[in-house]
Amino acid sequence: MTVETQKQTLGFQTEVKQLLHLMIHSLYSNKEIFLRELVSNASDAADKLRFEALAKPELLEQDPELKIRISFDKEANTLTIEDNAIGMSRDEVLSHLGTIAKSGTAEFMQQLTGDQKKDSQLIGQFGVGFYSAFIVAKKVEVFTRRAGLAAEEGVLWASEGEGEFDIETINKPERGSRIVLHLKEDEKEFADGWRLRNIITKYSDHVALPIELPKEHYGEEDKPAEQEWEVVNRASALWTRPRTEVTEDEYKEFYKHVAHDFEDPLSWSHNKVEGKLEYTSLLYVPARAPFDLYQREAPRGLKLYVQRVFIMDQADEFLPLYLRFIKGVVDSNDLSLNVSREILQKDPVIDSMKTALTKRSLDMLEKMAKNDAESYAKVWAAFGQVLKEGPAEDFANKEKIAGLLRFASTNGTDGTQNVSLADYIGRVKEGQDKIYFLTGDSHDHIKNSPHLEVFRKKGIEVLLMSDRIDEWLMTYLTEFDGKTFVDVARGDLDLGALDSEEDKKAQEEVAKDKEALVERLNGVLKDQVAEVRVSHRLTDSPAILAIGEQDLGLQMRQILEASGQKVPESKPVFEFNPTHPLLEKLDNEADEDRFADLALILFDQAALAAGDSIKDPAAYVQRLNKLLVEMAG
Ligand code: ADP
Repeated sequence: MTVETQKQTLGFQTEVKQLLHLMIHSLYSNKEIFLRELVSNASDAADKLRFEALAKPELLEQDPELKIRISFDKEANTLTIEDNAIGMSRDEVLSHLGTIAKSGTAEFMQQLTGDQKKDSQLIGQFGVGFYSAFIVAKKVEVFTRRAGLAAEEGVLWASEGEGEFDIETINKPERGSRIVLHLKEDEKEFADGWRLRNIITKYSDHVALPIELPKEHYGEEDKPAEQEWEVVNRASALWTRPRTEVTEDEYKEFYKHVAHDFEDPLSWSHNKVEGKLEYTSLLYVPARAPFDLYQREAPRGLKLYVQRVFIMDQADEFLPLYLRFIKGVVDSNDLSLNVSREILQKDPVIDSMKTALTKRSLDMLEKMAKNDAESYAKVWAAFGQVLKEGPAEDFANKEKIAGLLRFASTNGTDGTQNVSLADYIGRVKEGQDKIYFLTGDSHDHIKNSPHLEVFRKKGIEVLLMSDRIDEWLMTYLTEFDGKTFVDVARGDLDLGALDSEEDKKAQEEVAKDKEALVERLNGVLKDQVAEVRVSHRLTDSPAILAIGEQDLGLQMRQILEASGQKVPESKPVFEFNPTHPLLEKLDNEADEDRFADLALILFDQAALAAGDSIKDPAAYVQRLNKLLVEMAG
């Protein structure tokens, strides 16, 4: 105890220092948001106290009316935000106000470039919170005492935001936190009642807790002996109000509070459900992916309330994983106040709510895609990869999710993912009953793939998929709107009605005509290929490798290999272009050694064109050089 009561000076975690620096520079033009962040924290702290008091009412002591008071002292140039909420213990202060607990923070900070403009965009993925106080304050003091602890177990945390903070044990009779900002010389404007009232109405009107400012008095004579306070916000839970009575700005500010984001959301959906189940939900689509979207332990899920009482953050039982970017609140009338995570996982009520909230989220996205393509393009850029997890996770909504997907295609050139399956179907050729696609590890690799030659010739659109997840996704997507998906690099391409009767006849004749060449090639390549056959999909290239119908594609093979897993062996089909001059030459080659060299070169080239590597590069170069020397001679 004696050691603890002494004043200790500790260093901030490196990441905190970086964050502070970045924030002070990038948020300078929007400094007033610090107040929103501190009020938001106080409101969360009140939620936590109400929740804990359900089981331990004594935590409320003699002071059950939770509120936030904001006061200022023009002379001292200070601003004080005080709550009678949960407060913090010494350990909590140490872990919350000196470190950043989010996993992946260090990696995130490493992305910083030092270029202020770029870096200030990055901070949007992070959320700023408490540390934003340092935008306007040269020194911040936090006096706090956790509900339930003795008055002597108060804590004072103080810092000038420059790498260190002091912490000491103090006596604090009132529970909760008092945050005193010693304003910078040029931030005096914030020690002003009118200015504060304005900021609160602008950003924090939705806060469900009363926010009080000192009552202003004109003239000394009517100044009362004791300070009087005045509530300046609406102080009711926003989601309980009818939709028609909530303004756009209020919805946006509420989002920033629940999502700990400081950018506006792109869209929201506010619904009250009555009947067998009774609940209200307010779901938001953020504009930007948080930096930890792909971290397994990253916070996700909705804020859960039961009859307006906060129960928990990050209730992730209400939405599937592929909608983990949706933020918001759900307030249930059916659950019990002492519901726990364990109960949530088993409760059938939750299942029905999850089904309904999933549908709501998908509907909201669909509506955006339909009415506001520009916003939807942002959703796609930020969360498209996550939505692509959907068809595998949520069988029941597969078709709906597929409708939300966007792809690059041969219809565009730059690889932008902006083609929906409906767009594609709207453009199909007469007689086309398939949706053609090609996967690969980069757009540049596949956009000129030999597999596309026949499609280009016939003017048939092909979806070009180069995200890491795509090949895996396509094992779950088999059809859309009655049309089956066909991987153009797989199997024996059958264009069905897209080939005319004459085309087909001609193909059969060529195949017959080249039987001998097929045999000869097979003799050379038999160890490396499953089959040799005449191709009908090539116009310019001499040969390609087609993947077997059931075999793993290149992307999946590479992913498995990279993760150290054993990849099942599979051999491709070697397809050659019978009209290509190289093949004509080959057909006429009498020397068996030269025939073999040329055949092996064609095989290796086909592997390269597919984006694969070749097994024996040195042998390839040797063969090619031998041929070049002969040609030159
Ligand atoms: P965030 O709110 O995004 O978690 P902050 O940096 O704003 O991050 O705050 C860090 C933590 O400090 C909070 O999660 C909370 O546990 C604690 N905290 C901040 N302000 C208060 C307060 N007024 N009362 C109690 N705890 C608080």
